[in-house]
Amino acid sequence: MNYAFHGDFDTPQLRSLKSHLADIMDAHGHAQTPDPGQAGLVFHEVLPERPRPFRRMSQATFVVGVVAWNGEAWETPLQALYPLLVRSLSNLTIAAAPHRPLVLITPELGHYTVDIESPDWEQNLYERIAPLASSHLVIDNIFDPDLPESLWAGTSVTQDMREASRRLADWDLFPSPYPLADTLPPEDYKHLKRVFGIGGLSYGNLSARHEGNTFWMSASGVDKAKIGTVSEDILFVKGYDAEARAMRISIQPGSRPHRVSVDAVEHWGIYQRHPEIGALIHIHAWMEDIPSTAMNYPCGTVEMGDAMSELLDQDPHPERTIIGLKNHGITATGPNFPDILRRLEGRIRTQVPMM
Ligand SMILES: [Zn+2]
Repeated sequence: MNYAFHGDFDTPQLRSLKSHLADIMDAHGHAQTPDPGQAGLVFHEVLPERPRPFRRMSQATFVVGVVAWNGEAWETPLQALYPLLVRSLSNLTIAAAPHRPLVLITPELGHYTVDIESPDWEQNLYERIAPLASSHLVIDNIFDPDLPESLWAGTSVTQDMREASRRLADWDLFPSPYPLADTLPPEDYKHLKRVFGIGGLSYGNLSARHEGNTFWMSASGVDKAKIGTVSEDILFVKGYDAEARAMRISIQPGSRPHRVSVDAVEHWGIYQRHPEIGALIHIHAWMEDIPSTAMNYPCGTVEMGDAMSELLDQDPHPERTIIGLKNHGITATGPNFPDILRRLEGRIRTQVPMM
């Protein structure tokens, strides 16, 4: 993975950060290229007063937004910095404030620090960036208008999904989707839709097995409290097309589907490996005494799926358990939604601990 810098980096903090980043990237054998268009990883300077995106040529380019921050609102970094991550269309944002640790922000609402006073901080920072930047996204959808007519109105499972999502919304576990269309200038929104096919940014999802390894799953970027229409915001996932690196979705002919949740590839992997699992719920919340993944891979990557599967493989009861996704949330497995909800009720912490 080669890398590039994009932007001026001419404040004292950013000049210094840039040279440390270059040193540690070089030390790990990554080559710097002068052309950000050719790089797998782009460090892109984001101006707080005028955040602009780096125009990726493809989804595979991982963009780290780098911000010279005045450190205002230090106690609430998400409020101060999340809008900059969104406006700059970054996969990860690093904010450097004077006399402060670096703050890192992820699209999953993760926020954590790297202390630049510690002796190994460059290495620590590298370990926070490289695994994420080199992970593989699977977020394309291929829609086939071949959903059998008997499924057009859904099944008892899609009815259960509707009810479960309303319950979770009542418990305040489904924050409203980030209003991307209202936040981004129209040309940036169009760029995001073209490169990633994304129309919204939402948090959490539900899925349930149909037959074999096919499953129903909530759509991406929609208000989960209101899902209910098959082939629009509840999608039928047929499988994963490895050659096209895309999820294959069956829809009713003539319908106008949203994209399926970005986590579909992980859920697909779990249903394949664990035939005893009937349903999955993912929320951005936490629970005491659960195992957690070691790395906060981005949603919708092969690596995130593998990390989740590994935790499930180690669990004595993978069919009815709850695993933590570091700095992100939990995924609960069970035979069906009512069973999972019974085990979640009253045990959820809305604050995800940040590590
Ligand atoms: Zn999530």
